[in-house]
Amino acid sequence: MDSIVCNEPNQFTLRQEEMPRPLPGEALVRIRRVGVCGTDYHAYRGRQPYFTYPRVLGHELAGEIDMVESNAFGLTKGDRVAILPYLQCGQCVACRNNRPNCCTNLKVLGVHMDGGMREYLTVPVTHLLPSSALSLDQLAVVEPLSIAAHAVRRAQIVPGEFVLVIGMGPIGLGVSKFATLAGGRVIALDVNEKRLQFGHQWSDTAHAVRAGEDALKTVEELTSGEFPTVVFDATGNAQSMSQALQFLAHSGRLVYVGLVQADFSLSDPEFHKRETTLLSSRNATREDFETVMKFMEQGKVDVDAFITHRAPFAEFVQAFDKWTDPQSKVIKAVVEL
Ligand SMILES: [Zn+2]
Ligand SMILES: [Zn+2]
Repeated sequence: MDSIVCNEPNQFTLRQEEMPRPLPGEALVRIRRVGVCGTDYHAYRGRQPYFTYPRVLGHELAGEIDMVESNAFGLTKGDRVAILPYLQCGQCVACRNNRPNCCTNLKVLGVHMDGGMREYLTVPVTHLLPSSALSLDQLAVVEPLSIAAHAVRRAQIVPGEFVLVIGMGPIGLGVSKFATLAGGRVIALDVNEKRLQFGHQWSDTAHAVRAGEDALKTVEELTSGEFPTVVFDATGNAQSMSQALQFLAHSGRLVYVGLVQADFSLSDPEFHKRETTLLSSRNATREDFETVMKFMEQGKVDVDAFITHRAPFAEFVQAFDKWTDPQSKVIKAVVEL
């Protein structure tokens, strides 16, 4: 932070020689909103195994283009943009299969390379998604919601089928929302009653079930004894991921959205008798960003209720400590620049 001159509270000015310079094919983006998520908390505490330090965090980013050469995307100075933070190699087997989100050489801004918790960032024009209709707040949450939209796209939901979403954190909320918009009859499940009720309302799910002893029986009854044909686990909890299979209908798809740094096991007889389709979902693609932005433009995503906490850049350090406290009940916190 010693490259910053602080003139007065809330006003930071980079020295001219510190300004990043865009290379050909890049734009200089003035960062205006940074979303904070579990990845950032764990990285800050040194508990994120993929991180090396020092590292500038920030991968949920909205900004305004400050400088750009003429480009094929029609991007111009002043455009408000969401930033696709996943930089793919373009050459590996995943990239050649049009799956850049799981590129073997993937570099995520704010994870593998310095991210957007700063005033200005250079970004390839291919990774900027402009919208004149969406607010900076809306653009800042496109990334976490796109992770959810990607998982829902992976599941190929058929209208009318039962879908169980386990875990009503920010990603589970998005999964419930987009599965509902895809026509699924969604059952939300969480251990925490308040979080469950919020998820039920925010995502407009058909049902809400409290996790615990009776949950399996309740889900069975809600689905007339058949169980959901799609189960998403968005808990990032190994025990939940292992047990999620018991909720799945025969012939169903089980999708792991949450990632856990652990091994867990599945009962093979349970797995096999269902002829389970097992899927994981990682990051998102430009297509998912566009899907989320379209839903937002249609007014189908309540971003105001999704962002529960915010702080100006100058107060971010103190706010960050508070947000890591579970008592603060953060769903999504954003920093304003
Ligand atoms: Zn995130
Ligand atoms: Zn690649």
